[in-house]
Amino acid sequence: MSSFKNAQKQIDEVSGILQVEYQDKKKFQKAIALLKKPQKVLKKNITIKLDNGKAKRFWAFRSQHNDARGPFKGGIRFHPQVSEDEIKALSIWMSIKCAVVGIPYGGAKGGIKVDPKSLSEEELKSLSEEYAKFLAPHIGHWRDIPAPDVNTAEREMAWMLEAYEGKTGLHAPATFTGKPISLGGSQGRTEATGLGGFIILQNYIKASGSFPRRPAIAVQGFGNVGYWFSHFASLAGYKVICLSDSTGALLDKDGLDIGKVARLKQKFGSFEDAAKRSGTGFKFITNKELLELKVDVLVPAALENVINKDNAKKIDTRVILEMANGPTTLEAEKPLLLKKVDIIPDVLANAGGVTVSYFEWAQNLQGISWTKEKVNEELKKIMDNSFSQVYEIVKNKKVSYRKAAYILAVKRMIDAMMIRGRV
Ligand code: NAD
Repeated sequence: MSSFKNAQKQIDEVSGILQVEYQDKKKFQKAIALLKKPQKVLKKNITIKLDNGKAKRFWAFRSQHNDARGPFKGGIRFHPQVSEDEIKALSIWMSIKCAVVGIPYGGAKGGIKVDPKSLSEEELKSLSEEYAKFLAPHIGHWRDIPAPDVNTAEREMAWMLEAYEGKTGLHAPATFTGKPISLGGSQGRTEATGLGGFIILQNYIKASGSFPRRPAIAVQGFGNVGYWFSHFASLAGYKVICLSDSTGALLDKDGLDIGKVARLKQKFGSFEDAAKRSGTGFKFITNKELLELKVDVLVPAALENVINKDNAKKIDTRVILEMANGPTTLEAEKPLLLKKVDIIPDVLANAGGVTVSYFEWAQNLQGISWTKEKVNEELKKIMDNSFSQVYEIVKNKKVSYRKAAYILAVKRMIDAMMIRGRV
């Protein structure tokens, strides 16, 4: 099933549960129909001049899903597999994520179909600038606020901001988040997704009553999200027993020292080389083996669809904390829930990133900057509150965490559309 059809199906499933809460069934069905497609999809074949003087074209997209709760918000990815279908689905999931944590945005997503490794820095800069100029009439701090996503970061946001400001003639730092601190980026944004996920895990453990004091955790991925999540978990005394990068995983049943693993990764480039050449005697296993380890908490923090029908029956954990976007397929979810494995969905677990992006936007609008302590304190309030609201639905309606998060989010979006009189 395509990602977009999948996202539409998720909304349909929730509508079956929610409809009893609305007297006017016609309005309710109209609202559901609106939520199943983006309000606007922009696409253009962007041309840039390559270093060799030749011109090259790239497909570029932006999907703006639903702005009933506030301006559109969502990242921009540079990837060879970007497609209109995927961007549309991702924009729906962004709406859900913003609504779950109650931040005043609708979802959006942008992307360019490009392998960024095939372009020079100058070519990537041109592509970023052309994309920002193409988006300029459709974005803005009260309209649509882009951010980094796969293969884009502070550097691309700075280039895009400059091109956008050049086109509009205004200083507009609040139009992009994920900027360098010197251009109005927020303290605490780098670690926000990992920290947010850790706060959600703490809430889950507290709510579940009995849980080992030092839970054993396996984390797939040691990039921004995997590193920061592991850092905070380990700091709190949890045992991160296994960590992987794309080459494989390091295992220590007594708990890994995250700082040491980061230094090894820096020195040797890959976990495979670190295991072979560092002489530290770490056990080295495959990513497949990591996912099937007996642990208390399994944290996919790298790729989509890694927990699927092929390995679902072999997953041996109490809870899956989805730090990556879409790591569990629909086919895998059923058998896992039957085995009483809780799945804390991506739209809740990894929402710390967009939450601190929201703080960045709010700081820019006011022309102030918060300390890291203030950012982390406000992040904790939002993550704690969001977990409680989702948990309440899990208990009351006896549904999975994913369904509960979708019920909360879709209801918030429908209510906003109804109050506005859109339906
Ligand atoms: P990243 O590029 O910093 O790190 C990705 C990690 O995954 C790296 O350690 C890489 O080695 C590993 N990896 C790549 N291929 C792999 C494979 N085949 N098997 C195992 N590991 C592999 O990315 P990130 O920012 O940490 O994002 C990770 C996930 O979290 C993505 O799904 C992303 O969409 C999601 N996410 C990130 C943020 C954020 O703020 N960075 C916010 C929300 C969601």
